[in-house]
Formats: sequence, structure tokens, C-alpha cells
Amino acid sequence: MSGKLLIIGFGPGSFEHITKRAREAIGESEVIIGYNTYVDLIAGLLTEQQVVRTGMTEEVSRAQEAVRQAKQGKKVAVISSGDAGVYGMAGLVYEVLMEQGWTRENGVQVEVIPGISAVHSAGSLLGAPIMHDSCTISLSDHLTPWELIAKRVEAAGMADFVIALYNPRSGRRTRQIVETQRILLKHRSPSTPVGIVKSAYRDREHVVVTTLADMLNHDIGMLTTIIIGNSATKLYDGLMITPRGYQRKYTLGAETQPLKPHQRLKSEAEPWALEQLDGQDLNESLEEFDEEDELMDAEVIESKEPSQLKSSPNLSPSNSLQLAMEALQLVSKGTEEVSFEFDNKLTATQSIFEFAVSPGIANKKLTAAQLCALGEIVGDRGDIEYSPHHQLIVRVQTNNPNQITSDLSALGLLLSPIGDVAQIKACDFCNLEKGESIPYAEAIHHRIGNLEVPKELKIGFNGCGMACYGAVQQDIGIVYRKEKFDLFLGGKTVGRNAHAAQPVAEGIAPEELVDLVGRIVERYQKEGHPNERFHKFFKRVKEIEGYRHQEMVGFVIENAICGD
Ligand code: SF4
Repeated sequence: MSGKLLIIGFGPGSFEHITKRAREAIGESEVIIGYNTYVDLIAGLLTEQQVVRTGMTEEVSRAQEAVRQAKQGKKVAVISSGDAGVYGMAGLVYEVLMEQGWTRENGVQVEVIPGISAVHSAGSLLGAPIMHDSCTISLSDHLTPWELIAKRVEAAGMADFVIALYNPRSGRRTRQIVETQRILLKHRSPSTPVGIVKSAYRDREHVVVTTLADMLNHDIGMLTTIIIGNSATKLYDGLMITPRGYQRKYTLGAETQPLKPHQRLKSEAEPWALEQLDGQDLNESLEEFDEEDELMDAEVIESKEPSQLKSSPNLSPSNSLQLAMEALQLVSKGTEEVSFEFDNKLTATQSIFEFAVSPGIANKKLTAAQLCALGEIVGDRGDIEYSPHHQLIVRVQTNNPNQITSDLSALGLLLSPIGDVAQIKACDFCNLEKGESIPYAEAIHHRIGNLEVPKELKIGFNGCGMACYGAVQQDIGIVYRKEKFDLFLGGKTVGRNAHAAQPVAEGIAPEELVDLVGRIVERYQKEGHPNERFHKFFKRVKEIEGYRHQEMVGFVIENAICGD
């Protein structure tokens, strides 16, 4: 029995923008597989189908499950918002099929049903910004190296593409959009129009038209698509319009055109065409065109006959190759990253240095001198963000991060990298008065603090059984009590179904604690899957250091669209 995979892009999320074929395909499917929020968005179209919903970052298991069920003979719909072939599920499903030796002739049927991608939804709300050559760039570096993304941004900026940015910022990925703006400002005017569209055609739709210089002063998040105009994009009455070039040949406000229809496709009427460039340096040609555009903007074209238009010599193939090589060199130079050692673990790019800073493992008080030093280092262009993890997040443009780290360390501040690293979150030990266990917290920090792990890992450490700093809510919790330690593993620290960690041991001898915690974290580092949170790792491996995982009491939570 042959099954079928229907890979469906359902557009921005409003019913009016779901295509007829997408609705039909959802209706004829026996199984619907999708990310929780997407299933919620199409809930009104569901009837009797079996629904398989999973969380974010579980795309691979969704694709595998879809293939598995289709092979059993079922009609399976895999849903993506936007277009399934644009950062959606289509490519991944095909990749899973390819892994299994699938062929079009002998395997399950596959139909990819197109949808309206975010770039087009956002473009329509902004006016007509994508009227000319454009590209989409995802700023998510979860699957793509940042170095490659930066090169693409550089190349797109240099080549004057209208650029749509997907995944511009998330709670943890905050530097990428800042770096992207910096790269683009090398190639575009600060006044370049920029559109920021959040939740296009959904309930909380929000549209902002701003400029390249000002864009970071607006709300940008996971549900945002950003469209950056090219050098010709104009603002008009709150809209972004990118001229396609009609004004080069036409006078848009006149009924009678300077070029008659039979003249418009003649080569002399297109001095900018490839055939018209004869061995001329491209830069000169472009400068010439800029001047020409200005003249035409002033509607001087009205007085020109085709024969009066300036023709340009040809661009030879050898020149094209040379120019392409030069452009590539410029791109690689422009994004060259200079790496800096940070506590032997963190590297930072030449432009923006981001790190976490705190007064210490146990100390929670900043001095005036420390605050002054931070303020001076950050200046007007950097920023300091107060995080929920007993740290300040600092972002600063610099060519010399080593100087910053040594200056701040000399003032007694504790600096840490940001991202998927192990972090000790200790209490203040009652203003350091209940300080007997502080040396153990510091020893754990020295052993595994800032260690790179599959996903950010918080180790709560509290100095008495009150556990008032919430150690038991963390991935790993340690509570000092009666001169010994209690250990908790696998807290789910975020989400609507967050839960405390599982108590696994009481009365651990102090001399055993540091090595024990070290071994737990090091095993997670070695055996955890990329992006796998510690509580999921514990559940998967079932046992760590002899401590067995136990299922937490389940809660039934009503499905609801994630607050966006
Ligand atoms: S956990 Fe205990 S030692 Fe730490 S701050 Fe709270 S009461 Fe004080």
C-alpha cells in the first residue's frame, strides 16, 4: 500500500491566505504532523485527522515520523508556516527520504504545496519593497556557521539586493542582527528604508517602517521579518517602494512617452545593458549610471532622443571574471574575524564583544568603581542588559576585548561567555554570613564553569535548606544542609510545563561533591545531543552516576497559541 506525503506551506497563518490546494490537502490527510504553534494555527481546518505535534527544534523527528507513517500507507501532511520550501520542512523531508534510498518511481508519493512565504507577506504590508532583485538570509546560526551568514550579508549588501532577514533575533541570539546592521552600513546609506513586520496577518500583527540606522531601536524577535531596501528604495506615505527602473525609459507622470514603443527595446535606448559595455571598468560604468539615474530622476529624459543617450563600451568576459574575483576578495576581507582568547574558551569577533559579568560567584554587590568602569567601557554605542541569571550582559564594539577582560577582571568582576555553557548560579549565602559552602561553589565553577555543553546549563547552588535562590528549579541543584549536600537533577527551567529538578541524593560528603558534579556535567557534554537540554538528556539516558531518572508528575495543559 503506497502512502503519500503532503508537505504543506499554509502561509502567514490567517485563513484567507491559505491556498485552496493547501486546504484540500489538509482535509484529505489522515495524519497531520507539525510544530505545536502551527497545529494551533490550522486547528479550524482539522476534522478527524490524527495529530502529531512536537516542539521547536524537533524538525528531524517530525520528518522521520512523517516518512514512517507514509511508508505504512497513510496520507501524511507535514505543515510549515509560510512556504514549506523556504526554511520550511520540504527540504528536510526529502533529505530523510534520500537517506532511506527513496526514489520517485518506487517510494511514497510526495507533493509539495506552496504557500505565501514571510518575505511576501511582509512585503505586501510594507508597500512594494521587493520589486527588484532580492534575497532572503536567515540570521539563525544554529545550523549555519555565522562566518558564512556574514559573507552572504556582505555580498548581498555589496550587490544592492533588497534583503529579507528571517530569524533576525531570539532571546539568546541577539548579536547577529547588530552585526548584520554593521555590515550593511558599509554598503548602504543609514537612511536606507527598512520595514520590520511582526506576525504578518496574525492577531498581533505589527508593522514599522524605519531606517537602517534606526532599526535596532524597534522590537525585533522570533516572529519578525525584516526587509531592507536597496539603494533605490523610497519611502512614501509610510510605505516602502523599490522602483524597478521604469523611470529610466518612461516619464511616469506624462501621458506621452519620450520613447515610442518600437524604440524601447532598441540597444541605444539601453546604454546600461551588457552588450553596451565594451571593456569599460565596471566601477566607472556604475558611477556613470548613478549620474544618469540622477539626471533621469530630474526628468531630463523627456528632452532626450534615443540617439542622445550615452552608450557604454562592452564588459569583456575576462573583466567579468576579474571583477568577480575582486568582489570575492572584498567579501572575505570584510568579514574577516579576529579571534580573541577569553578564559581559554570564548572567542569574539572584531566588532562586537558580548559577555556576561557579575560581582562573583557568591558576592552580589557591585561597587561604584566597577559600575563606572563598565559605563566607560560600554560608552554610548554599547549596552548593558540585566539578565535573569545574576549577570549583566554587556555588548560593546571593540578591537581589543582582551584589554576589556583584563581591566574588568582587575576590578574583581567575574566575566563569563554567553551561550551554551555551564554556569553556576549561587545564592548570596545570606550576605556571605552563611558562607561555609562557598569554597565548594567556587571549586565547581573552576572545574566546569563556562564549559561548553550541548545547551545552556544552570547549576543552582544554595547555602542552606531554605534554598531561597531556587537551586532546585535549575538543571542541576545543589543545596548545602547539615554540613553535607543534597543533589537535584533535571529541572525544566523554562516553559509552561516547567518543573523542579528530581531529588536524587541527600547527604553527599563535601569532599565528593565537586568531582561528582564535574562527572555529571562532563558526561552531558560528551553524550548530549546538540541543543538537547539537560532534563531531556537525563530522561533519555535514564541514569547518571547511578541516579535513575523518574518521570515527573504529568500536568494536563490546555493547548493554546503561544503568546506572540
Ligand atoms: S539559600 Fe540559605 S544561605 Fe542562601 S541566601 Fe537563601 S537563606 Fe541564605
